[in-house]
Amino acid sequence: MKFVIAQMQHETNTFSPVPTPWEEFGPKGPYLGRDAFDAMKGKGMAMAAFMDLAEKVGAEVATPVAAWANPSGPVDGNAYDRICDAICNDVAKGCDAVLLDLHGAMVVADRTDDGEGTLLEKIRAIAPRTPIAVSLDLHANVTARMVKNCDIITGYKTYPHIDQYESGELAGAILMRMMKGEVKPVMAWGNAPILAQTLRQNTAEGGMKAFVEAAREAQRQGLLAATAFGGFQMADIHDAGISAVTVADANKAAATSACNRMLDVAWMHKEDFIYRGQPLEQAIAQAKRMGEQSGGPILLLDHADNCASGSTQDTMYVLREALRQGLTSIAVAPIRDPEAVAKLIEAGIGAKVTLPVGGKMDMPSIRRKGEPLTLTGVVRNITDGEYTITGPQFTGMRCFMGRTVVFDTGTALVVISERNQEPWDRGVYESVGIDPTRQRYLLLKSRMYFRPVFLPIAKGMVYCDAPGVSSSDWTEFDYRKLRRPIYPLDENFANGRQVAA
Ligand SMILES: [Zn+2]
Repeated sequence: MKFVIAQMQHETNTFSPVPTPWEEFGPKGPYLGRDAFDAMKGKGMAMAAFMDLAEKVGAEVATPVAAWANPSGPVDGNAYDRICDAICNDVAKGCDAVLLDLHGAMVVADRTDDGEGTLLEKIRAIAPRTPIAVSLDLHANVTARMVKNCDIITGYKTYPHIDQYESGELAGAILMRMMKGEVKPVMAWGNAPILAQTLRQNTAEGGMKAFVEAAREAQRQGLLAATAFGGFQMADIHDAGISAVTVADANKAAATSACNRMLDVAWMHKEDFIYRGQPLEQAIAQAKRMGEQSGGPILLLDHADNCASGSTQDTMYVLREALRQGLTSIAVAPIRDPEAVAKLIEAGIGAKVTLPVGGKMDMPSIRRKGEPLTLTGVVRNITDGEYTITGPQFTGMRCFMGRTVVFDTGTALVVISERNQEPWDRGVYESVGIDPTRQRYLLLKSRMYFRPVFLPIAKGMVYCDAPGVSSSDWTEFDYRKLRRPIYPLDENFANGRQVAA
């Protein structure tokens, strides 16, 4: 037996000005061939689960590519072609099954609004009868083309994501049973007209918890798989938003009715998926009180500038307001500003420097120019920005912030990096010599990934609403391609769901 196993993951924020070239899909571009195998082996990802399965059943594997990039603007067309060609070439050589670790929200410049569906269609055309199993992210914007061109779809059931491996394991297990002739998977897919905000998709609470629980219930009642997809709202594409995919054994009606039941649950909780915040001044004042009472750390969450949702990670609004209100002992990690990094490295450790930090990128989709903040401070540390994740999400993955500087203004330790990096692990601080537990405030450009890592060491948290291309204020964005009507953009609905035949 021979399996083709590959990863292609990108969550495209179509409002983001951050480019997504080939190089962003790994330390120097995607891992290819044997390097892809070595990079993914033993990791907490779906692709690793596929490789473990192959080993268990004694199948030979081809791992053409493992490509994972931070969310950002539409993917470069040539980069996408190269990734697809790598996978399709191995499929064309002949194989017994294809197992793919995909995100499900990839938009490609000048090519397609449905990167995954288009890839699956290409693979199907090459190998029409080869079984294809796919694991998707909980934030997948699922399309009819994806469902039509594969046999099995599973997805994560946690956000923050800690079950990527389990999703791959489930897809692989169904595929094996299918290949042995024990089951005949049939899928149903449908969406609810809800543009859910990622900030309201924590699977531990509210509507998303209920939606995921409905999926688990469907599985307990005998479906092979059922997944509640929150979707990714920062994408102006037709199919953005909430959907569900079910996999039943040879019983289309069972798949469809379970899918409908799940979507009804989502619709019932529609208000839960919409975030309502408070003005920035108020949020910082609240954080200040909490920090003074408890000693900290208090988390200041600059969620609208979260690079894991495609933001520039260089806006300075929250830090500016925190400094204006006199907060001290703030550690900021990290701000992306390669220009400032170069200047500070040139000045050297111990040098006192005044320079504009952050605000280098304009955000035309929300009609904003970059606004740097001029800071004076001392260069405390310079590193290569590399560390290995020790926390519970993406465990063991090597991270590359690019050259990184700690800039000490006296009241704030500002970590400035060359590359975007979600603060999803203590490594963003510890790798540059900062102990996050000893700071009063931790300013994190994060919306959800901070939870399993920083909540346990925090005395409190405050969401700070500021401008950014991952804002949860949907009125900031001009949607043109999105399916309508959709909640909360529209008010009138005939019913709460549309299930595809
Ligand atoms: Zn996700």
